[in-house]
Amino acid sequence: MGKLSGKVALVTGGASGIGRATVAALAAEGADVGIVDRNAEGAKKAAEETAKLGVRSLSASADVGDDAEMKAAFGTITAALGDIDILFNNAGIDTISYLDDMPIAMWDEMMRVNLRSVFIGTQLVLPAMRRKKWGRIINTASQLGHKGAPQMVHYCAAKAGVIGFTRSLAYEVARDGITVNAICPGPINTPLVEGIPQAWRDAKLTELAIGRFGNVEEVAPTVVMLASDAGSYYIGATMNMNGGDYMI
Ligand code: NAD
Repeated sequence: MGKLSGKVALVTGGASGIGRATVAALAAEGADVGIVDRNAEGAKKAAEETAKLGVRSLSASADVGDDAEMKAAFGTITAALGDIDILFNNAGIDTISYLDDMPIAMWDEMMRVNLRSVFIGTQLVLPAMRRKKWGRIINTASQLGHKGAPQMVHYCAAKAGVIGFTRSLAYEVARDGITVNAICPGPINTPLVEGIPQAWRDAKLTELAIGRFGNVEEVAPTVVMLASDAGSYYIGATMNMNGGDYMI
């Protein structure tokens, strides 16, 4: 028996990076795991690998910023695995531009994928969590939502929005047995970070007390802790695994 046996988790962006590692960590603790990602092939592969750990796992493809696609994907997962007990709103994108040159479409896409998605996913799972008087909502923000970063006004604004969302909803649902928290990772070795220009990454490295980027295995255990009964007194917290980039 793992500490999440009998629970159903849903991970957005579970096909890659932080999401993929967290899918494995949740399953290792006995949770059944649904994976929602726009990368249908990657999500399917992740679900197949997860099922080999002895839990139920299923993928559904959706663009997390699209409410109709999200409703359909969450419906598919719920129909197969049951009501969602643990939601990890994690899918996200990153792009780079100074404000002066930033097309409004780049700003809008960032808000849609990194912030609107959190609202949509959460609204889909809250009714069942309220009924059960138990739920865990964990949102992937970023340390940049606190610290800010040049060429990332859109990303940092969206992630600061996720932090504000987390804290506000935490007040609304804590007395229903539902916790809402955020993780705020520093730079973690994933395809997302590998896609950022080398000059940006070199500059970031010099800002880190620990002198290296982090790994997904240094993020996922905190999500598992927040998802478990051990996380019951974390309400509106921002968990900062960031290599000492920003100490708060
Ligand atoms: P990643 O690129 O490895 O994984 C992101 C996943 O999200 C991918 O599987 C991708 O297909 C999916 N995705 C992206 N847009 C989507 C959309 N519109 N609809 C559905 N799925 C979509 O990146 P990662 O580093 O694991 O990022 C995960 C989260 O962590 C993101 O929210 C990111 O902003 C955040 N984050 C990452 C770092 C880092 O340094 N890697 C630091 C802080 C926060």
